[in-house]
Amino acid sequence: MNYERQPYRRCGRSGLKLPAISLGLWFHFGQERTLHDQRAIIAKALELGITHLDLADRYGPPLGAAEEAFGTIYRKDLRGLRDEIVVSTKGGNPMWDGPYGAGNSRKHLLATLDRSLKRLGLDHVDIYYLHRDDQETPLEEQVATLDHIVRQGKALYVGVSNFTPERTAEAASLLRELGTPLTVHQPQYSLLRRRIEDGLLAVLEEHGVGCVVYSPLAQGLLTDRYLDGIPAGSRAAGGRFLTASDVKPEVVAFVRTLHDLAAERGQSVAQLALAWALRDPRVTSLLVGASSPEQLEGNVAAVDRLGFTDDELAFIDRTAKE
Ligand code: NDP
Repeated sequence: MNYERQPYRRCGRSGLKLPAISLGLWFHFGQERTLHDQRAIIAKALELGITHLDLADRYGPPLGAAEEAFGTIYRKDLRGLRDEIVVSTKGGNPMWDGPYGAGNSRKHLLATLDRSLKRLGLDHVDIYYLHRDDQETPLEEQVATLDHIVRQGKALYVGVSNFTPERTAEAASLLRELGTPLTVHQPQYSLLRRRIEDGLLAVLEEHGVGCVVYSPLAQGLLTDRYLDGIPAGSRAAGGRFLTASDVKPEVVAFVRTLHDLAAERGQSVAQLALAWALRDPRVTSLLVGASSPEQLEGNVAAVDRLGFTDDELAFIDRTAKE
């Protein structure tokens, strides 16, 4: 583990620090990739000071496969490092058939977390998230379950993902009353998806909640990957979650414009997009995905130039609106 490679930022007002760039195991940790490739990506992450690895019960394919891959790699390579890494997972999205196979009921969450821990080969995760809000289950039940999970010792910290600003504020208040603070929110954020600027970040600051954002490269759109079409082996070529229709001409044109600014700053477009997402101190960490150790290494180099001038930021805002 190289702790010098990147800064560690405090997660809200908690005691937990996270690396500016963390690794997500959503893609490339299912059964379509070899364990050999997956070990190489995780080994590179540790070399780059990436102490935080993010999972969910669903990640695969098939469902659960990413947690299983992590479990195998953990047993082989990481066992001695348990106290140097932060492992998060999530529950609430559909996992099995029937009325107890999905959602944020106490019944489903406690069962899916136990299955996650088994696959991961851990007795607790560091952060446990509600993967999404569940309008059918009272919020009181959702957060009481998070509080219970912490008291059981199965998670150290809790978070929510994809919650609106209003529901986040409500969840934070309810959790505070229970004595288990809401430590982190996991929303989507990138140059192409800026919704969190319209309210969520303010709520997180007010309640002292950290912000670990996902898809800061818009699944690869904010890189050089699609400048000359859709290459074989890319996520858009795979058509799962990112499809050819997402590679819109206006997105490619935006990336070309960013390319010139990035070059002036001595960065790739991907590095510029990541540095931009970190410009707000309320953003704790970026969860990036990587299909190779080289991509990850390139992405972490974003931290070598984080600052932006007012002119650069104004240029980016203008171009984004065009
Ligand atoms: P990114 O936006 O970082 O996209 C990663 C993908 O972009 C890579 O797999 C790769 O795709 C491409 N890429 C990355 N770097 C480069 C580069 N330098 N040059 C060219 N292409 C590059 O994040 P993800 O969408 O993967 O999400 C990251 C994590 O966020 C997930 O693993 C998960 O942990 C979390 N997440 C959480 C969600 C939630 O609901 N809470 C939802 C989605 C994600 P390619 O395969 O084409 O090489």
